[in-house]
Amino acid sequence: MSKYIDPKANTYSLIEFQSKYGTEESCEQALFQLKWPEGFKCPKCGSCYYTVISGRRLPLYQCPVCRRQTSITAGTIMANTKLSLVKWFLALYFVATNKDGISEMALSKYINVTLKTAWALLHKIRHAMGEREGLYRLGGSIEMDEAFFGGKAAGKRGRGSENKTEVAVALQLDGDGHPQFLKMQIIPDAKGSSLLSFVRSNVTEGSTIHSDAFRSYNALSEDYCCDMQKYDPKSSDGRLKWLHVMISNIKANIQGAYHGLEGTYLQRYLDEFCYRFNRRHSKKTLFDHLLACSVWAPYKTVAELGI
Ligand SMILES: [Zn+2]
Repeated sequence: MSKYIDPKANTYSLIEFQSKYGTEESCEQALFQLKWPEGFKCPKCGSCYYTVISGRRLPLYQCPVCRRQTSITAGTIMANTKLSLVKWFLALYFVATNKDGISEMALSKYINVTLKTAWALLHKIRHAMGEREGLYRLGGSIEMDEAFFGGKAAGKRGRGSENKTEVAVALQLDGDGHPQFLKMQIIPDAKGSSLLSFVRSNVTEGSTIHSDAFRSYNALSEDYCCDMQKYDPKSSDGRLKWLHVMISNIKANIQGAYHGLEGTYLQRYLDEFCYRFNRRHSKKTLFDHLLACSVWAPYKTVAELGI
């Protein structure tokens, strides 16, 4: 078990966590607090009054004004689940406290569910992470490059990059040139229009983009300050160094934690990696934050999630 828990990653030990969230009632209470921090609010008419219909796996809250019934998991990634809240919370705990993520195999053993259930759970949690990451844009000094995932032969642009998935990577640096925040997104190709679309979605206007001299980056010059220079990995100026460290790390992470890449789910792995990286300094609140994201992220059906 210890292999999968980062001792610095949470204020709760597993024993403390179990005593806090070891019953359905305690998990229900935590979700109620997150969903309605200022007290119950009917999703239809806004009334603050409710009656509880119990006798179900999860209680239903009924509004006496408009008769609308709702549950604490409605509209969240936990909606329509057959899994107990205790197992959901434990899954979130293991995902949050393992700094490299957790495989569906390990999760299925820890919370005693089938591999298929563990797989779906992890993708729903990654969806929540991706939704959260989508709220933020980078700004200031940004290093940017593309990386290639999958396929057989190694390669960058051009030869050897066939059958690979192309990913745009942007890294915000602080005033000392150290990494702050990371964004990674699959792009259809390395044309200027694709790079511009990625940057517009993920970087605030007026930021400075440091890249290599690849001509497609010219497309960014209208809205951004472009610092394009031929990349030399042997140069001592450290240019794009951190960016390439990040790309190596995510590739090692995917191989190590998930035993290889599964193409259509790559974006979610990237979202998880960025989510963890961008919160590496708030380890003590990782579970609480991930739980909040899971309540906040909009519900999607299994078909919509492609799982
Ligand atoms: Zn109502």
